[in-house]
Amino acid sequence: MRHNRVITPPGNLCDDSRMSSRQITIIANWKANLPPSEEVALAKAIAEGVGGELHAAGRGASLRVLLAPSTLGLVSVASLLRREYPQSGIDVAAQDTSLSGAGAFTGEVPANHLVGITPAVIVGHSERRQRGESDEIVGEKLARVVAAGLAPVLCVGDDLPAAEIAARVVYVQHQGAEAITAAERAGCSATQLFAAGFVIAYEPIWAIGTGKPASVEIAEAIASGLRAALHQNDLPILYGGSVDAASAASWLGTSKERTGLDGLLVGGASLDAVRFSAIVRAGLAAAGPA
Ligand code: PEP
Repeated sequence: MRHNRVITPPGNLCDDSRMSSRQITIIANWKANLPPSEEVALAKAIAEGVGGELHAAGRGASLRVLLAPSTLGLVSVASLLRREYPQSGIDVAAQDTSLSGAGAFTGEVPANHLVGITPAVIVGHSERRQRGESDEIVGEKLARVVAAGLAPVLCVGDDLPAAEIAARVVYVQHQGAEAITAAERAGCSATQLFAAGFVIAYEPIWAIGTGKPASVEIAEAIASGLRAALHQNDLPILYGGSVDAASAASWLGTSKERTGLDGLLVGGASLDAVRFSAIVRAGLAAAGPA
């Protein structure tokens, strides 16, 4: 195993050495809120809203926008974006994948069937964990995603609304390490995982859909603690949990003064094209010149 996942206390909240070159990723998680036809309409409205600005800014490399429709809507939304808005650079992400590979597994969605449809797959969202997904399962899914050549977005998050920051950091470090160790048991080395475009999204359960986001201070401490524990100074860490248009800029900062976060995973506010477009604009402002 390449790295030593020692659980460490939060270090510097903002490491300046990684400030300049960081790509920002903004993911819209539409969950099972809309039927595919409405997902296509929403993708169209978002692409009409910010696609031109994304193209004009030429910031494809420094700002990545991914829409995660339902599994049923994934192909239609991906086709729409590639056919009608290729220059926007907006792409899709899958919300989940199955534990099984291809074969006689009725109803399952193997990771290797997502190849060519999506570049990225969310794994371990708390709504999946609440339905029984353990760290072991999450790790196995990470391994499946990497084996398929896709980029995993691992969701972690505490259910400790009143905890001290340090306790929260230790909890999330442990959760991240457990999933990575399980991925290793499933045949995916940490080296392979980090080389696959691995991203972690910190989504405290108490902040998801509650209108009560964490603070930037907490999210930065988690980001710093995860990077330290995993010995990955450049590991991209997103924040998710009640992010809205009005708060998006505060999570990301400006191109001159970025926070320690690398993007946002947005649920409720991503179901509204105007609100989500405003969040993407905050990403553009933080990404700065291409
Ligand atoms: C989520 O479910 O991933 C999420 C961040 O939701 P919301 O933005 O609605 O809190």
